[in-house]
Amino acid sequence: MIQHGLIDTHAHLCDERFNIDRDLVIQRAFKAGVIGIILVAETIEDAQLNSQIAQNEKRLHLAAGLYPGYADITKAEEMVSFIRKNSENLLAIGEVGLDFQLARQENERSIQIEVLKQFISLSLELNLPLNVHSRAAAKESVDTLLKYGAKKVQLHAYHGKHKIALQAVEANFFFSVPTSIVRSPQMQDLFKKIPLSHLMLESDSPVLGPEVAVRNEPCNIAKSIPIIADLKGLPTNKVAEKLYNNSVSFYGDHFT
Ligand SMILES: [Zn+2]
Repeated sequence: MIQHGLIDTHAHLCDERFNIDRDLVIQRAFKAGVIGIILVAETIEDAQLNSQIAQNEKRLHLAAGLYPGYADITKAEEMVSFIRKNSENLLAIGEVGLDFQLARQENERSIQIEVLKQFISLSLELNLPLNVHSRAAAKESVDTLLKYGAKKVQLHAYHGKHKIALQAVEANFFFSVPTSIVRSPQMQDLFKKIPLSHLMLESDSPVLGPEVAVRNEPCNIAKSIPIIADLKGLPTNKVAEKLYNNSVSFYGDHFT
C-alpha cells in the first residue's frame, strides 16, 4: 500500500474520450491515492473546458498552453494574453514545447522555437513553471530553454538521449515519468539514469497508458511507483514520498 499522496503532473481530462465518464475517472484517481492532478491544455478551448472541470474541486489544478503542433504566432499571442489574464488560477504554462515530428519544414520549426521563446519569457515574467512537450526535438528543446534562461521546467514524457537529459538535470529541470514506463524497457533504461531527485509522475491521460491502445487515466500513475522503485533499488513508500516532495518543491505546496 502506497501511503504518500500521488500527483499527476500532466493530464488531458478535457479530452472528449472522457466525456462519458469523466467524474468517475476523477473519483477513481482519488481512490487510488492521487491527491492532485494538473490539467494541461493545448488550446484556449481546452483551458476553458478544464476550468469548468476543476470548478469546486481543489485537487484539480490548471495549466494553459499552446500545443507545439499549432506552430502559429497569432494563436500563441492569444494564448499569452489568456495566460496573463488568468495567471492567478494557473499552476503552470503547458503544454508548450517543440515537436519536430509534426514540423518537418525548417520554417515551421523556427516558428515553434519562436513560440516557445515567448512562453519562456512569460514563465519568467509570471513565475509560472513550464510543462514542456518535446518530440524528435529533445536537444533543440533543452537548448532553447537554456538559451532563453528558463528556470522552472518540467520535461513531460521526455524520450530523448540521456546525455541531454543530464544536461537538463544540471540546469535543475524536472522530468515527469509517464505511465507507459510500465511497458517500455527504453523508458526504464532512461529513467534509471535520471536522478530520483528530479522525477515526478504524470499520466498524460488519455494517452501513454500502461497498456497499448487502452485509454489512460490518472489512477494509473500508482502503477509507475513499483517500476521506479525497482529501477532505483528503493522501497515503494520511499519513492512515493520522494516523488511527492519533488512535486511540492517544483509546484509549491498546493497538494494536500
Ligand atoms: Zn500531453
